[in-house]
Amino acid sequence: MPREVLSSPLRVSQRSFLESLPFPAFVQDRSGHYVACNGLFESLVGKPVGEIVGATVADLIAPGHADLCRNQSAEVWAQQLPTCHEMEVRRIDGVMRRVRIHRSILRSEADDVIEILGIVQDVTKEYAAIASLTASEERFARLAELSSEGMVLHAYGTIVDVNDALLRMVGRRRDEVVGQHYLSLLPAEEHGVVSLHVEERCSERYRVSLKRADGSTFPVEMRGNAISIDGQDIRVTTVTDISARIAAEQAMRERELLYRQMFENNRAVKLLIDPLNGQIVDANPAAAAFYGWTLDELRRMNIAQINALPPEQIKSEMDRARSESRLFFRFPHRTKHDEIKQVEVYSGPCTFHGRALLHSIIVDVTDRDRAVAELRDKTDALAQSNADLQQFAYVASHDLQEPLRSVVSYLQLLEKRYRGHLDEEADTFIRYAVDGAKRMGALIQDLLSYSRVDSQGGDFEPLDCDRVLSNSMANLHSLLGSLDAKVTIDHLPWVLGDGPQLSSVFQNLIGNAVKYRHRARAPEIHISAQPGQGGEWVFCVRDNGIGIGEEFQERIFGIFQRLHTQAAYPGTGIGLALVRRIINRHGGRIWVESKEGEGCAFFFTLREAPPLERRAAAAS
Ligand code: ADP
Repeated sequence: MPREVLSSPLRVSQRSFLESLPFPAFVQDRSGHYVACNGLFESLVGKPVGEIVGATVADLIAPGHADLCRNQSAEVWAQQLPTCHEMEVRRIDGVMRRVRIHRSILRSEADDVIEILGIVQDVTKEYAAIASLTASEERFARLAELSSEGMVLHAYGTIVDVNDALLRMVGRRRDEVVGQHYLSLLPAEEHGVVSLHVEERCSERYRVSLKRADGSTFPVEMRGNAISIDGQDIRVTTVTDISARIAAEQAMRERELLYRQMFENNRAVKLLIDPLNGQIVDANPAAAAFYGWTLDELRRMNIAQINALPPEQIKSEMDRARSESRLFFRFPHRTKHDEIKQVEVYSGPCTFHGRALLHSIIVDVTDRDRAVAELRDKTDALAQSNADLQQFAYVASHDLQEPLRSVVSYLQLLEKRYRGHLDEEADTFIRYAVDGAKRMGALIQDLLSYSRVDSQGGDFEPLDCDRVLSNSMANLHSLLGSLDAKVTIDHLPWVLGDGPQLSSVFQNLIGNAVKYRHRARAPEIHISAQPGQGGEWVFCVRDNGIGIGEEFQERIFGIFQRLHTQAAYPGTGIGLALVRRIINRHGGRIWVESKEGEGCAFFFTLREAPPLERRAAAAS
């Protein structure tokens, strides 16, 4: 574009000069009126030269820019310099154009300023391109700043720019980084590999570590690309912080290791099964040992080759395991040697490398089943023999009663009629025989009660133990009175039980407390109850009698177990066995705490009566 001042010879053939220019051009006078123009200017404004000459720029092409045009002309006049301005103009056809107007002063030979030469450059396209370039550059810059990836631009080794993400990663300010060599961002051990990538203009991703301001390093993935800006070779490197990814990979490796340990190095038999087709995806060495196939063989097999159930049933069981509607199964599993093993399978869904699988733990219960079956048989046999024994004890004691009764009565008759008629020795023999027969009667009676505990016990009902105990006390009344025994009773709870049986428990324990009293002191008996665990009550019958040595404290609950002779303390040795049997029938336990010579405390547990039932029983 000519910028020098044009000289007056041009004035002679102004029109031909203007026409020779490859741009729309015009000449204006001092006041801004057009005095001449070329054809290109005519087409630009869409008017013939006749209508242009004499008009102002404001009249013609830029009505909105009248002031601006005046100012521009004034500026040219004042500064006597060529100027260049851009403006939007609306053509006669309404089309908006962006134009750049170069104005120069035309001087006469006498060096007088006479007119202004204006050359118009249509920059609409160029402007649009620049505008979009600017926008895209801004967008790029914004993107670079918004990006979570770091970016480094370096030219011939020197960092020319970095984005905020990179500064955040390395913990530095921009002015500490820009102008430095890019290797300053890296620990020394990475210099070699990174330089090589840069020199070879490699555009592959690669992993290195970057250095923070505090000297610590962190893993990154880098990728460089060479671009040319204003003829300069610039390398743009994107930097991704992969610490989290590396940590996740590490965690994944650890999980995998853990899985391996849990799955493989485990003595439990484990299979990993694809529930969609029953394929065995993995098996552990314990599984290989159990089934007899090698691991490779197992991994090529289908569960239907192992599970002896029909295929459709296996499928439906796997569906259940997959939906977690059932997690525990019992299956017959076949081994390589065609042996059928009864197994319990704990199966649940798991995801492995993105695949939904079933993780199954298989427990061989063949031996346990056999043992359970044997135990059940033995228990049944024991129950049967117990029942037989009970029946025998019942029948024997019941049937023995009758002949014994006649023995006793005839002995008593003998004693009554012949005492004093035979010699003294005969009297003693008869007395022994009567005592023995009476003792046998008591024994049979106790044995009968013992054998009736289970077979002839009553139903359990809510019982007020205060009332149960007062029944027992009534039966013991004369005995207690005769010995001057002192009995104290706490308030007792309601329990679930068989009234007559519990009454017999109290009667036996209180009777023993009196029977085994200490000779040096009057018997004192205290009966109490404390709440125990799980809705139980713990009853206690405590005395101040002779006590029981620790070594006998379990034995005394056995049948016919006595610690004393008949002469010292008469008895059958059935009382405590009967008490234990009754308490056991009620679901309770009984034990004794004692020190020899210091009295005993017998404890037993009974279930508390439910409040509702208790209230109903109390009301009735
Ligand atoms: P028996 O009283 O007919 O011998 P038991 O079964 O009632 O039979 O008692 C078994 C044994 O336990 C008794 O022989 C006695 O030695 C001991 N015994 C039971 N109760 C007491 C007690 N309160 N104090 C001391 N010893 C006791």
